[in-house]
Order: sequence, then structure tokens, then C-alpha cells
Amino acid sequence: MLEAPYPELDDLLEMMGEAGKHLAEIEASEGAAGNISVCLRWQIEPRTRFPVIDEIELPQPIPDLAGATFLVTGSGRRLGEIMDEPTASIACIVVNEDGETGKLYTSHQRRFERVTSEFNSHLAVHHDQICSSGTNFHAVIHAQPVHLTYLSHVPRYQDEQYLNTHLLRWQPETIVNLPEGVGFIPFRIPGSPELMTGNLESLREHRIVIWAKHGVMARSDVSVKRAADRVEYAETAAKYEYINICAGEIGEGLSADEIRQICKKFNVQQTIF
Ligand SMILES: [Zn+2]
Repeated sequence: MLEAPYPELDDLLEMMGEAGKHLAEIEASEGAAGNISVCLRWQIEPRTRFPVIDEIELPQPIPDLAGATFLVTGSGRRLGEIMDEPTASIACIVVNEDGETGKLYTSHQRRFERVTSEFNSHLAVHHDQICSSGTNFHAVIHAQPVHLTYLSHVPRYQDEQYLNTHLLRWQPETIVNLPEGVGFIPFRIPGSPELMTGNLESLREHRIVIWAKHGVMARSDVSVKRAADRVEYAETAAKYEYINICAGEIGEGLSADEIRQICKKFNVQQTIF
């Protein structure tokens, strides 16, 4: 939830650009992989940046978000390049009163045909989170960090309890930043309704979820950067885990008792250890 004064359109485009650049820097978005969206409930004027208007059908009806504004990256755009020319990579969608259609605002500089093919998952997660928490701002990121994605190919890490007890043991901050741990969805076809439902359900319980053999989705109701940070915390944990596997598993990691002591000191509620 954000307090007034709310960020302006240009601020939001800049935040998406910074997050995109950060994700590219941590090798979580090679080529055109990954996508970013935000939903805001306050009024902005899209036409200053996005003068081209089309009508579109939304991936699912969201009547309770009538009037809401989405900024979303275009299909095939590089997250690391959003910053250079945000309107070439981002579209703005304002939900019509019927909740089933929307106005798609784009720029003459637009360099994509459609918004990201994962928009159905983004929209479903925004809708679910906003309806349950009442937040006026929500950010969702899909990225493909190498080590997390690699571990999702290894059968023993496909168990959520095993995954989390192994990932969250390398740095004291990890449990503090991800107290619910990392969610896990078995492999689903990209852009499918099954992936959308998996995201919706797992992100009710977690701030970040692994899509097996593909990547992650993270959310934040504070900022796009916060969602990107969650990707980085989880990816750093996976990097430690990967290093430990390569080193013949000689690292101890924090013990369950040490992690419980950290949680006590920082008032972290968790059920993993
Ligand atoms: Zn992807």
C-alpha cells in the first residue's frame, strides 16, 4: 500500500526500468526473458506518454478492478533495455467499467505486437492480492535466474520443505526477507491457465514462487524494486546451494536452531525450521 503523494507515470516507468536493469545484471533475464507489471488504483493520465488507444479483451473478467491501471512490458522486449526508452517496451492498460475489456494505451515508439504472454498470470495475481489486501499498488515480476531454475530441475529440490530448508540456510537475512520461504509449482506450459492458477495459489502463501524448469514469479505491494530484491535474495540462496553441491556438500549452513534464534531476535514468524 502506498501513501500519497503517489508516484507519477514517469516515476513508475523509471522504477520498472531500474528493476529490469537490475534483473539483467543478476543474470535473471537473458535475451527477452522475463516480464514486469504493476497495478495502481489511483488515477493517472496515460495519454501524455501513450497516445495510441486500442480496445482489448482482458485475459479474465476482473469487475472489482474496473478503473484500475496496469503498466506491463511488451512481448519480446528486453528487461535490461526498458530504461533506455520505456515507452518502446511498456504498454498501459486501463480496465473498462465492464471489467472484461480495457483500453490499451501505447506509444508511437512501441516495439512489440502484444503485451507479455504471461499477462494472464500477472493479472490473476494482481487481482487476487489486491482483493484480499486492499492495496492500491502491486508489482509482479517474472524472471529466469539461473541457479534457482537449475535447482528446480533436480528432483530433490522439487519438494517445498526440502527446497526451503536448503535454500534458507546460507545467510541470516534470507529467512528475514522470505519468512514464508519460496513456493514451488511443478512444470506448467508457459502462458497456460494451469501456470496462472499455480501462481495465484502459491503467491497467496509466498512472496516468490519457482516455476519448475522455467524461472520465478515475485510480488510486492511496496515497489517493483522490492519484488526484484526478492528474486535476488532467492537467487543468491540458490547460488550458495549450487556452490555447495559443486564443492561436494562440505558447507554446514546455518543450523535449524541458529535460524530459530535469528527469527526470535528479529521477530520473524516462520514455519519452515
Ligand atoms: Zn519465462
